[in-house]
Amino acid sequence: MSDLRELYQEVILDHNKRPRNFGPLPEANHHAEGVNPLCGDHLTVYVDVERGVITRVAFEGAGCAISRASASLMTDAVKGKRIEEAEQLFEQFRRMVVSGADDPVESSLGKLNVLCGVREFPARVKCASLAWHTLHAALAEKEETVTTEQ
Ligand code: ZN
Repeated sequence: MSDLRELYQEVILDHNKRPRNFGPLPEANHHAEGVNPLCGDHLTVYVDVERGVITRVAFEGAGCAISRASASLMTDAVKGKRIEEAEQLFEQFRRMVVSGADDPVESSLGKLNVLCGVREFPARVKCASLAWHTLHAALAEKEETVTTEQ
């Protein structure tokens, strides 16, 4: 188990250090901004949707290692997916980070599983979920900045 933890930790650190799909995508047809005031994480997510499929996705912003790694993993996970699939993934991800250890949905989350450890740290759950909330807002074309504090 500790080996697995170490591996998860390494993947998180790697995605934090070299985030995938990082940078603005000004021509994207959807974007939204998200903030997690508790930690100071601030992200903008850009999504290009064509015929219901996420063809390109990117993010920029500043935040803690967990929020950056999660945004990086999120962009990798939803690229090429249909909007419904991405929303479903968000739902599964949310369940994983808030629920107990032996949730069967984890098997379908692939790499996103590396963030399952945050469930032990409620404040970190918000860091890990921010990118997903922001993606959701971008897809829903919400104008206002989303926040993890309602
Ligand atoms: Zn954070």
